Amino acid sequence: MLDILHCSSEVAPFSKTGGLADVASALPEALTRLGHKVTVVTPLYASIDRDKHGVRPTGRSFDVTLGGRTRNLEVFEAHLPQGTHVVLLGCESLFGREELYGTRDGDYPDNHLRFAFFSAAVFRLMRSLRIRPSVLHCHDWQTGLVPAYNRLFHLDLCGTVLTVHNLAYQGLFPADVVPDIGLPWEIFNPEGVEFYGNVNFLKAGLVYSDRITTVSPGYAGEILTEQFGCGLDGVLRGRGKDVVGILNGVDYQQWSPLTDKLIPDNYGPDDLSGKKACRQALLGEFGLEPSFEGPVFGVVGRLAAQKGFDLLAEVLPDLVEMGAAVVILGTGERAVEENISEAARRFPRNVSARIAYDNGLAHRIEAGSDFFLMPSRYEPCGLNQIYSMKYGTIPVVHAVGGLEDTVIDIKEEPERGTGLKFREFSAEAFLDALRRSVSLYADKRAMDAVIRRGMDMDFSWEASAGAYVDLYEQTID
Ligand code: ADP
Repeated sequence: MLDILHCSSEVAPFSKTGGLADVASALPEALTRLGHKVTVVTPLYASIDRDKHGVRPTGRSFDVTLGGRTRNLEVFEAHLPQGTHVVLLGCESLFGREELYGTRDGDYPDNHLRFAFFSAAVFRLMRSLRIRPSVLHCHDWQTGLVPAYNRLFHLDLCGTVLTVHNLAYQGLFPADVVPDIGLPWEIFNPEGVEFYGNVNFLKAGLVYSDRITTVSPGYAGEILTEQFGCGLDGVLRGRGKDVVGILNGVDYQQWSPLTDKLIPDNYGPDDLSGKKACRQALLGEFGLEPSFEGPVFGVVGRLAAQKGFDLLAEVLPDLVEMGAAVVILGTGERAVEENISEAARRFPRNVSARIAYDNGLAHRIEAGSDFFLMPSRYEPCGLNQIYSMKYGTIPVVHAVGGLEDTVIDIKEEPERGTGLKFREFSAEAFLDALRRSVSLYADKRAMDAVIRRGMDMDFSWEASAGAYVDLYEQTID
């Protein structure tokens, strides 16, 4: 049995802006099921509903001092449904804000302090709780300093694993924050935490962790290249075999049409009638005609350049022309939001967008759509295409990263296909996949076969959690 401490800036259901939160709760839960002792530590943001999630104060608190500043952090705790222990660190001046990282107008200017204090607090927490995990598993740039502090100040107390959920988010700050985050100037060089004159939190994690993982084998290969490496491909190549891709699983307790309480009707592969009801309700919820007969394409995601919404906006008129309806849920960059809202205004009978973050609606889109669109420029893993397959909703994806790894194209493998892929990132290639989708929709038997194959796919966490355990064992050998 291993003792594992996960450090993550978001953990579902407490806090979430993207797939990281799902992984940071589902992986620890899967490890708990495998019999390991697992704790997850995360900030207690003001937006977390303490009553709803059973978050209680423990009465413990401790001071953390970095660069001459001292903050007092209070220890709260809660449990995930399968019993994984979650520690939430409260500190009004660092985390007493509604958002996790910033507002629509930009990131909080003190994010370097917020996440440096959080990372340093992990070690104080271990002392306070008298725990000494064998492995610290960190996630993304927000906890990139944990492996650095472990190596520099704690004599490699624990083995460390850093998982990169998205290499494009690196936590870059000006050089003058180096003393504020408690780092010595000696490591402010290209072999250490420097990145073209700035401090790079993710790079700190890449340099000082024992092992690096990312969330699909496909993305693990891609990030070693200049095209997808976001300037860190050299550092990653330098780590050689220490970089591995382990595909994310998904939490079917949350995402299964058989049991989902957030959708109007439950269904499974043996009886899809509930899916029809979900489709009608979804069209109604989006203000479209519930008796609409053409294919319904769903989209859920952060409205960021990564997700290819510009490509979506480009093909929307043609998709409408083909007789489709499109329902879109997302929040994010203002320019992308406006682009999408504008398309919805232009085609009010076929396109409807909700600019919001709404978990229930995300579930209802998965259940009520016929196809799910993910034209991402790059995609480390992607969860929605995996959810889609379980909900009998056929994914149409750009063949990249985790999308390439999880979706089988029906033209490339007619007997095994679970979705449609386009390889070149262009409106033309995307349109070709959309035309193929619309023809598939017209062929009910073929459509049904693809739906059923998708619903039969199993991306549960067990296999991936086993791969992480093997990796943890390597870090403590
Ligand atoms: P990323 O982590 O890059 O945002 P993923 O596909 O890995 O992308 O995970 C996205 C997760 O966030 C999914 O669970 C998805 O349903 C959810 N999500 C994204 N945007 C929204 C939104 N506007 N409303 C509800 N859920 C959302």
